[in-house]
Formats: sequence, structure tokens, C-alpha cells
Amino acid sequence: VSDLPARVDVAIVGAGFAGAATARALARRGVRALVLEREAEIGRYASGRSAGLGRQLCEDDATTALAVRGAQLLRETPAWSPTGGILSFDRDAHADEYAARAERFGIAVERVDRAAVLQRWPALYGLPIAAALVAPSDGTIDVAALLAWLAADIEIARGVAVERVEPSGGGARVTTTRGTIDARVVVDAAGAWAGAIVGDAPLDTYKRHVFVLDGAVPSRSPWLWHLGDDEVYVRGDDGRTLTSPCDAAPCAPGDQQPDADGEAAIRARLRVAAPATERLTIRRAWACQRAFTPDRAMRLGRDRDRAWLVHAIGLGGHGATAALAVGERAADAVVAALA
Ligand SMILES: Cc1cc2nc3c(=O)[nH]c(=O)nc-3n(C[C@H](O)[C@H](O)[C@H](O)COP(=O)(O)OP(=O)(O)OC[C@H]3O[C@@H](n4cnc5c(N)ncnc54)[C@H](O)[C@@H]3O)c2cc1C
Repeated sequence: VSDLPARVDVAIVGAGFAGAATARALARRGVRALVLEREAEIGRYASGRSAGLGRQLCEDDATTALAVRGAQLLRETPAWSPTGGILSFDRDAHADEYAARAERFGIAVERVDRAAVLQRWPALYGLPIAAALVAPSDGTIDVAALLAWLAADIEIARGVAVERVEPSGGGARVTTTRGTIDARVVVDAAGAWAGAIVGDAPLDTYKRHVFVLDGAVPSRSPWLWHLGDDEVYVRGDDGRTLTSPCDAAPCAPGDQQPDADGEAAIRARLRVAAPATERLTIRRAWACQRAFTPDRAMRLGRDRDRAWLVHAIGLGGHGATAALAVGERAADAVVAALA
């Protein structure tokens, strides 16, 4: 987009998974939207830095519903690989809770013991595994492919930062670094910056590191996500192993510099989980924020008081898997707001 239009039906702030998926779902509903992205490239923040685990069973039912639907839609895109996933637990009761959730959502899982997990990930013999669930319908997401697929059929104005959004004539006036746009509906999909442009409280943002390793923990499939006090995940990545200590240090939006605390965290985790970590070689490291609402539920839908505003925010740690379901929910809310 070279010249910004003076007026649009729908302006979406942010071209991460939330904003891009909303625009794509709107296109499918016959509604044109303009996505405004501050950066010159898409995927500069969380969406381009996700670890790509397509995990359907989450900590709560509301998030699980979105992840299950998101995975269903992802299977029809080139971004999904049906690798399966393993969730392991340091407490039996925690595994029971997840098994019950799997049943509620119709997700087939096989309960296996520690030995079965170690057959797939033998280096991780230090993990305190009480029980595990194998979910064959989980997968792995190629995040670059997903962003490219989402961006293909939508209109994105790159390098346009939204400075503020104010009510105006039944809709809203969107002030950007490249001019002003009047929109009937505005979607806040600003990720870690959500709320800022519409005068709402900021989300809680936490920095998480991801590392790509050589050696100590040979790459295997399906991926393994260990839930508990020593939370850690591992998945194969082109013959190397991608891993995260699942760290969550409170930090300001935009800080994505890998730091010494993150590296210390993965070394400490793997010292316990894979006691052969002296050989651990870090090939790549990155970090980014995960953004949460105060109750940790994704906020998707129309604002209670402002008829022109739709939220697609607080995707937390499951926004890659849930992306296309987030888009559906937000797009339905936009259609209702336009009616
Ligand atoms: C390290 C890490 C690993 C993860 N791993 C997984 C995983 O394995 N599986 C999974 O399902 N999820 C994972 N996630 C979660 C997932 O990546 C996020 O939930 C998701 O990417 C959030 O998408 P978003 O669109 O809300 O935010 P973002 O991707 O941050 O997009 C927001 C966009 O808004 C733009 N923006 C902000 N303010 C403005 C403004 N004023 N004007 C214009 N543009 C603006 C930003 O530039 C940005 O591009 C991970 C997250 C992190 C950080």
C-alpha cells in the first residue's frame, strides 16, 4: 500500500498472527480490511519468534478450545506438520487433569510411562516424569510459512505506526505516522503493545527464550513438552534441537535481546533433564514477549463500551496454534460491529 486511504471499513492494528489471521478470516467473509503494521517486515515480534509447537491441550479449557480449532484449520495450510506431541508431567494428578481435558475436547491421547518417553528422547533421562500423554494429532508449525500464507491474500500497510485511535462519528479516527484514516471498526491486534493506542491498561508481558542446540539432546519426533516445576520443551529442527526453559521474566514490550539469565535458565534446566549437558552447544538463541490479559484468557471480540472496537489480544503462549481460530472469532466480532 503506497498511499493510505482516507477511509476504510476495517483498520487492523498489527500484522502478527492475530491481526493477519483476522484480516484473512474477514476476506473469507467478504469484508476488506487494511492491516497497519509499524515494522517494515511482518513477524518482527512474537509471531516470527514462536517455537512452532502445535500444542492443542493448554492450561485451561478456553485456551484449549481455541488451540484445538486453530490446529484443525492449520492442518489445511502448508505450515502444519503432523508430528504428534508428548506432554509429560511431574505429578500424576496433573496428567489426570490433562487426560480429562483431552476427553472433553475429543483429542485422542495415549497415556504412557517414563520409559516410553525416554525411548523417544533418551538424553532426557533426568526429567522427573510421573506420567505422559502422547497426542498424535498435535503437530509442528512452520511460523515463517504461516506468516507468508496469511499475508498472501490480505492488504498490509508496512512501516505505518498507529499513534492513537479516537472515537469519531460512530466509528474511529486512526492517527498514524503516515496520515489519518477514518474507520468504521478498529481491531486492536498490537500484541505486546495492545491497549496503548486505545487508552487501555497494558497487558502483562514476559520474556521467553528459545535456543537451537547441537549435540547433547539429539533431535527426535514427536516434540516433548514437560509440564511442572522444571518446565522445558524440546523439538527437532532440521537435525538440531530447539528448546526453551519456559522462562517468563516480566519485561517491557519490544525487548527481544537474548540475555545471560535466559542462557543460565536453559543450562540449569538441561543440567537436570539431560545430565550430559557439558557438550551443549547453542547455535542460535532468540527471545520475545508473550502477552497476557490479567486473567490470562485471550481477549477476542467486541469492546463492551466502544462499538467501533474489537480486541484480538492476549494470545499468550499459544498464539501460533490458535492463530486461525483467533482470526475467526475476531472476524465474527467485526462483522457484528459492521452490521
Ligand atoms: C519465544 C516464544 C515462543 C513461542 N512459542 C509458541 C509455540 O511454540 N506455540 C504457540 O502456539 N505459540 C507460541 N508462542 C506464542 C505466539 O508466538 C504468540 O501468542 C503470538 O505470536 C502473538 O501474536 P500477536 O499477533 O498477538 O502479536 P505479535 O506477533 O507481537 O504482533 C503484533 C504486531 O503489532 C505491531 N504493532 C504494535 N503496535 C503497533 C502500532 N501502534 N502500530 C502498528 N503496528 C503495531 C507489532 O509490530 C507486531 O508486528 C511463543 C511466543 C514466544 C514469545
